[in-house]
Parts: sequence; structure tokens; C-alpha cells
Amino acid sequence: MNSRVKTAGGASIPALGLGTWKMKGKECKRSVRQAIEIGYRHIDTAVFYGNEAEVGEAIASFNREKIFLTTKIWKDKLGYRDFKDSAEASLRWLDTEYVDLILVHWPNPEIPLEETVRAMNELAEEGKARNLGVSNFGIDQLERARELSSYPIVTNQVKYHLGTDRSALLEYCQTEDVLLTSYSPLGQGEILDNETLKRLASSYGKGPGQLALKWLVEQDRVIAIPKASSEGHLRENLDLFDWELRPEDKEELDELVIKT
Ligand code: NAP
Repeated sequence: MNSRVKTAGGASIPALGLGTWKMKGKECKRSVRQAIEIGYRHIDTAVFYGNEAEVGEAIASFNREKIFLTTKIWKDKLGYRDFKDSAEASLRWLDTEYVDLILVHWPNPEIPLEETVRAMNELAEEGKARNLGVSNFGIDQLERARELSSYPIVTNQVKYHLGTDRSALLEYCQTEDVLLTSYSPLGQGEILDNETLKRLASSYGKGPGQLALKWLVEQDRVIAIPKASSEGHLRENLDLFDWELRPEDKEELDELVIKT
């Protein structure tokens, strides 16, 4: 299977990226740099994570054009001027002229979405955000953002992992060509003790984390951004694209319900 997916705007995005929530300081810089050395080409950060400077330092020694970099603007900065100022500040922290993707981190019903989308569209026009997206949006909110925007809303980043039902949103995304970016794709580690997952993973000679990620990225329009800080986890999580999931195993995994 292909390790890259095309967005509605035509950009090519690696189906497996690195999440950086809770990565801080030197540890963050080390993990992001190591990830890129191993082969990661998609890094997910956010203003809220307080690590944009470290992410920027980590990517500085690599070819910027080869890395797909995402940041997210926090929900109290969705007014037109605030959004633009926050995005400009992110570019300074990240020490880059553009991000590949800018997301609204969470919807905020108290701030008109028109303002947010106008700011995002201007950032796209100015070449400061190559793609636009949202996060934690329901279907109606996503639809509204898409109606308001002159540029495609290429993704909705939401919590999605094995054992959870996202079928309504996924169907919408598949029909409308919006990527569903899975965050917490390993349930923050909590789903990995599941006996079915462990049994099936070992039948492939893989770890439960790998199988959980494989199940996600095999789905049409789904990409995933697991966080990993150890070299072992970083390597494992990227090793998804040269083996296939048996259809009967996919069906069994589809049926799993896991409480987290
Ligand atoms: P996650 O990726 O589901 O889980 C991360 C945890 O799993 C870490 O403790 C990690 O350990 C462990 N792990 C990683 N690979 C593993 C493997 N192969 N086997 C066993 N354990 C493994 O959780 P997450 O950080 O919540 O989600 C991922 C990313 O999504 C975040 O970092 C962030 O970028 C994004 N996110 C976005 C939102 C949003 O509102 N948009 C919300 C939450 C998260 P080590 O670190 O020790 O390797």
C-alpha cells in the first residue's frame, strides 16, 4: 500500500506522521530529529503543545520542502486578527516561512467561524499555510467550514483508534474527500493490552501498536499521527507499508469494542 495520501487540494501527505503532544525541550528536539533520520516526513505540533521552537530546531537541519509540517491554532485565538497573529507567531517559533497544514485545534462556538475561515484563507493566499484543516469538528461544523472556505478543508483531525466508532464521520470524509487524521491512534497506549489485538499482531510477527496503526491507515482517507519518543517505537510505527492485513483479521478488528 502507498505510504502517502493525496489531499483534496492535491498535496501529497505521508499517511503516518509523528505526534508531538507532551514532548518538551531537549527530549522533543531529539525525538523529532531522530524520527526524521529514521524516515518520518510528517510532523504534527500545535501552539498548545508549547514545543514549536523545539520542533523548528529539529527540522532546521533537514530539507524543509521534504517535511510536511502541521500546527494548530488554539480555540481562544479564532477571531480574524487573533488567528493571523497566532499563525505568524507559530511561523516565528517554527522558524519557517510556511506550514504545510494549519488547523483550528478545537471549534469555539463563541467566535464566528466566518472570521476564522477568512484568516485561514488569507494565510493560504499569502503562501503561509499550504493546506487548511480543522480538528475536533463534528460533521455539521466541518460542513460549515467547507462551505465558508475558498480553499479545500483537507482534513478533520479527531480522536480515532481501534475499538471506537467513527463510522458516520468517516463515511462523510470518504464521500467528500476530506482526510480523517487519527489522533491518539494508540489510545495513548491504553488499547495495546487488548488480547485480540495482541493475538492477531503476533500472527504477523508485529507488535500490537503496529497492528492498531495498520488497521487505521488501511482505511480509505485515514491517516494517523502516533506519538513515540523511543527509537524502538518510532521504527515500529513506520513499518506499516510493506505488509498486508488479511481481510478476515480486518473484520475481526472492525468488530472490537475497547473501553479506554
Ligand atoms: P498515542 O499516539 O495514541 O499514544 C502515545 C503513547 O503510545 C506514548 O506513551 C508512546 O510511548 C506509546 N507508543 C508509541 N508507539 C508505541 C508502540 N509501537 N508500542 C507501544 N506503545 C507505543 O497518543 P497521543 O499522543 O494522544 O496522540 C498522538 C498525537 O495526536 C499527539 O502527540 C498529538 O500530536 C495529536 N493529538 C491531537 C489532539 C487534538 O486535539 N487535535 C489531541 C490529542 C493528540 P513513547 O512516547 O514512550 O514511545
